Amino acid sequence: MIKGLHPLSTLFSLKVNSRKMNNSDGGRCVACLTSHARHGLCPACRADLPVNRWHCHACALPLPFALPAGLCGECQATPPPFSRAIIPWRYQFPIDGMIGRYKYHGQRQFIRPLLAEFGELIEQQIPAEDRPDWLVPAPMHWSRRWQRGFNQAADIAECLSSHLDIPLDSGLIYRCRQVQAQRGLNRATRLANLQGVFRVRGTVPERIALVDDVVTTGATAKTLARHLLDAGAREVQLWALARTPG
Ligand SMILES: [Zn+2]
Ligand SMILES: [Zn+2]
Repeated sequence: MIKGLHPLSTLFSLKVNSRKMNNSDGGRCVACLTSHARHGLCPACRADLPVNRWHCHACALPLPFALPAGLCGECQATPPPFSRAIIPWRYQFPIDGMIGRYKYHGQRQFIRPLLAEFGELIEQQIPAEDRPDWLVPAPMHWSRRWQRGFNQAADIAECLSSHLDIPLDSGLIYRCRQVQAQRGLNRATRLANLQGVFRVRGTVPERIALVDDVVTTGATAKTLARHLLDAGAREVQLWALARTPG
């Protein structure tokens, strides 16, 4: 059971990043360090992950209970541009810590269990004929990528691409400028904030899955999906690891 993610000590980092952790079966658990983990997570810690059980059927916004209509208020008012959104976890403990360790400290071991499970979930939920032609990661501005050293969305998309055998295009849509954080802004300001931020280049395939690590307000994902649809895509799905509760 997950009691708390261990502090980032040198010893813990060594254990988590040891070669034993790279085994798909039998290595250590990244959350509690016990052995017999599968893809880096033991069965007890896996059972503790905050599954996004009740969610909006259109945008995967976490809901406190199942709604009869199945849609959140925002999607009832304005249907989102995605045909489906697959976001299996809620961005809360310990998922937030696992993604944070990966994103801000470059410790990929922490999202390895999530990626393995996400790939299996998509295989189960989406029949091969309904899968997209291409995966497109949410773009990161070059300056942030330079600071961080990698774009986590591209990294996740790359992993799913090899798991599902779907090609990946990291350059189809790019970010021209940085914007202020979207959280806390109202809908109109969020959308105005994102005007002129993205550009599509090249030929757009018919069916795309937009891939990201965490979806917060959903405004960025919606703007990206609209750009891809305007540029000729017929269908855009949204795939992300986690979504913040509304
Ligand atoms: Zn564990
Ligand atoms: Zn919704």
